[in-house]
Amino acid sequence: MNIQLAIKNGINILIDKRINTARLDAEILMAKALKKDRKYIILNNKEDIEDKNLEYFNELIKERATYKPIAYLINKKYFWNNEFFVNNNTLIPRPDTEILVEQVLKITKHKNVMHILDIGVGSGCVLLSILKERKKFYGTGIDISKNALDICKINAKRLKVNGRTKFYKTDIDKFVEGNYDLIISNPPYIKRFDLQYLESSVIKFEPKLALDGGVDGLSEIRKVIKKSSELIKKNGKFVLEIGFNQKNKVVKLLKEKGFYTNCTLKDFALNDRCIVSTKI
Ligand code: GLN
Repeated sequence: MNIQLAIKNGINILIDKRINTARLDAEILMAKALKKDRKYIILNNKEDIEDKNLEYFNELIKERATYKPIAYLINKKYFWNNEFFVNNNTLIPRPDTEILVEQVLKITKHKNVMHILDIGVGSGCVLLSILKERKKFYGTGIDISKNALDICKINAKRLKVNGRTKFYKTDIDKFVEGNYDLIISNPPYIKRFDLQYLESSVIKFEPKLALDGGVDGLSEIRKVIKKSSELIKKNGKFVLEIGFNQKNKVVKLLKEKGFYTNCTLKDFALNDRCIVSTKI
């Protein structure tokens, strides 16, 4: 069988499951099966496939048909300026989260050395993207998941920023180290009851630990704000990702812990997604 026909069969299986990126997905998975890039697949689609590669491709299509995200099938996701290694121990980096990186780069344009803390560092996409752009910054990442931290360490090495990082596996309540110029966090903020309404690719495969914000969606955000207020320097900036309907409540929580809200930013769907504040 040639590449084109195998892809066509794959597309039909994915279309049956109402996956609307069927062609793109099938091409990406074929590239993975053949250890080539997508361009090669498209340019050489009349080439015959070896049996074992075809079998592997069909296996990948079968997994995708269960709604397993492409990023977990190919173990990578592009975020900001770099490719990150991911597996189902970390959330897949979201384009909307790039807003956090953008804001931090804006705030730190004229800064020399800075110490940054990322609470719930996950794959490391936010912290490591910043360290890659700001060569004199140091980063500390904490996470409750050891498996997530292992992924983060792999990414730090791959991006060659590991010499400027420290990682701790810890519960946020127990972490007491340091005094930071800047704190960033994308904590779990989905209301527990609403988890069931997330897309099946998210809820079936992504770690609940990284999504579940407790009964009102704010339990982790509350802890993050409290801890940040203790570990941040006076005048330090705090950049936080929030749920689409949490802005007013979070601004209030920030105020209670001594933070002045500088601005809130919207994501690509025009939902409030990020709050920048200063410790006063
Ligand atoms: N934005 C994520 C989603 O897809 C949630 C991330 C989070 O809880 N921090 O639903």
